[in-house]
Amino acid sequence: MNFQLINPPFGASELEPVISAETIALHHGKHLATYVNNLNNLLPGSEFEDLPLEEIVEKASGGIFNNAGQILNHNLYFEQLQAPSHDNRPVGKLAQAIDEQFGSFETFKEKFTTAAATLFGSGWAWLASDSEGKLHILQMPGADNPVTKGLKPLMTMDVWEHAYYVDYRNRRPDHIAAMWQVLNWEVINRRY
Ligand code: MN
Repeated sequence: MNFQLINPPFGASELEPVISAETIALHHGKHLATYVNNLNNLLPGSEFEDLPLEEIVEKASGGIFNNAGQILNHNLYFEQLQAPSHDNRPVGKLAQAIDEQFGSFETFKEKFTTAAATLFGSGWAWLASDSEGKLHILQMPGADNPVTKGLKPLMTMDVWEHAYYVDYRNRRPDHIAAMWQVLNWEVINRRY
C-alpha cells in the first residue's frame, strides 16, 4: 500500500493568528510529508505492507510504528482544525458526554490543558473514548496513539516543538491556550 499526504480541510493561512501559514507549510508540507515518504520506503517487503494505517500502528514497532503513528496522529490533528472562533465549544452527544463526565467543558479544558502542558518532551495529548463511550484524557509520548490501548482517538493536540516553535517559541502553554479556538467540534463529535 502506498500512503498519500492528506490535503488539510483549511487554507494555508486560514488558522492565523493561532497557527501561521509558515507553521502549516513546515508541519504539513515537510514534517508530515517526511513521515509519509519514510513509511512508504519502509513498508515494501515487511509484514505490514498491505495493512490499513490503524492496524500498522496497533501491530508494528520501531521505525514503521514511529512513521505510521505520526501519519495517523497528524491526519487526525489536521482534519479537526478550522478557522479560529472565540466561542468555540463541543457539540452534540460529545458535548453532553463531556458535561456528564467532567462536570463542564471548562473543567475538561483545564484537565486537558494540564495534560498537554506537562507532557515531558515530544508527544501528543488526546481525548479518546472506550467501548462504553467513557472519555479519557491521555498523555502519549513520541508517535503513540490511543488505538494502541484499544481506545478511539477523538481530539488531539500536538506538543512536539515543530507544532508551535515558529509561532510561540518555547511558550507551549500559550499555544495550547490558543488551540481551543481552532478545533472543529463537528468533526470531533462525529468521531465519538
Ligand atoms: Mn507534528
